Amino acid sequence: MIPRPEHNISRSNISKAALKVLYRLQDGGYEAYLVGGSVRDLLLGEHPKDFDIATSATPEEVHKLFNNSRLIGRRFRLVHVRFGREIIEVATFRAAAGADDDDHQVAEGSGRVLRDNVWGTLEDDAMRRDFTVNSLYYGIEDYAIRDFAGGVADIEARQLRLIGDPEQRYREDPVRMLRAARFAAKLDFEVEAETAAPIEGLANLLDNIPGARLFDEFGKLFQSGHAFASWQQLQKFDLTRHLFPLTAMWLNNDPQGLRTCFIEQALRNTDERVAADKPITPMFLFAVFLWGPVAGRARQLMEEESMPEVQSLVTAGAELTAMQCQRIAVPKRFSFPMREIMQMQPRFNRRKGKRAMTLLGHRRFRAAYDLYALRALLGEVSDEDLAWWTDAQQGSEAEQKKIFAAGKQRPAGRRRRRKTGNN
Ligand code: ATP
Ligand code: MG
Repeated sequence: MIPRPEHNISRSNISKAALKVLYRLQDGGYEAYLVGGSVRDLLLGEHPKDFDIATSATPEEVHKLFNNSRLIGRRFRLVHVRFGREIIEVATFRAAAGADDDDHQVAEGSGRVLRDNVWGTLEDDAMRRDFTVNSLYYGIEDYAIRDFAGGVADIEARQLRLIGDPEQRYREDPVRMLRAARFAAKLDFEVEAETAAPIEGLANLLDNIPGARLFDEFGKLFQSGHAFASWQQLQKFDLTRHLFPLTAMWLNNDPQGLRTCFIEQALRNTDERVAADKPITPMFLFAVFLWGPVAGRARQLMEEESMPEVQSLVTAGAELTAMQCQRIAVPKRFSFPMREIMQMQPRFNRRKGKRAMTLLGHRRFRAAYDLYALRALLGEVSDEDLAWWTDAQQGSEAEQKKIFAAGKQRPAGRRRRRKTGNN
């Protein structure tokens, strides 16, 4: 127990909605605590992006207390309580995997836990969580923090430590390896030695994780503003090849480091967009990750089967997308435009005439152009050509008509204004 005077969490930093839920559960006679990332982030002096609550009430009991709530989840049954745009996630205390109730737990031969909805006590709940720093509970009845696993000390030491035996915890849920990489990146923490050690030997357990779950994890790794740091952690722990096998193979042959540069710049650009609150979409990064392998396969199809360029990109895109989706299940609404962005690349080679100009109006133009710009880092696009397309987007329609009528020549008086990718 860490009493109020000994920590820096104040109610004023907790969302009104979360406080309401905590008080209503307490008034209903249940135990209720703020838990997980929010307590961790508050202790670190940061603004949590969401507030999760753990309670002794069952999902049905929680649902009854809140009109504005919904029961969700298959793997974990949870309640979402909605306040305007804010959603408070309320989870019932659960017992650790491997608890003695076989009826409710379905564990595979490998030790992976497929379902766990075995209710437990607060302490059980603390022990089934992944990292010590994610297992801190803040109660509103006394404003004290409950720390069963040494999470406060680990926050001070800025390290990620799995609760319990690391190997066993990874076997129960291999996604914890990705979570280690993700939190190390996001929090700028070190993965403590005993928690880091088993990853190398167990990484291939990730190959059995359902693709839909990996797609969720992809979003958390690469769309939360820490894509570059996450990538570095994945590389450090040699996990990249379990998420992006084709990309990892492509990166194995990178004598000048251009390919690494191409990927890293895309990730930095994504982080910048998140920091600036600009919209991002997973299709773009998938296009970046697959571009090298797809372009390589397309060249092979052109050479060996004399396929025309556009057709080769379409075919290679379809083949390799299917392979990638065996790992990470990218929903069609993203994989379709992702393939489009890649297929559009040869169109940048034509710049004379009306048909060339229609590219500007294509709904994927912006993303396709961003990929085109990054390709300069691979040496596939000259600075001149990139500058031409950068200029061509500016100005009125009348000006654009002139530019495309001129085609090859760079419009006079216009200099490069902006260039993504290199800088
Ligand atoms: P973020 O701020 O990035 O959302 P978070 O800590 O809230 O971080 P979530 O993925 O939202 O992370 O999970 C919420 C909490 O649920 C975690 O803090 C952890 O206590 C618990 N948890 C989530 N996934 C697992 C897992 N695979 N194994 C054990 N505990 C988990
Ligand atoms: Mg969270």
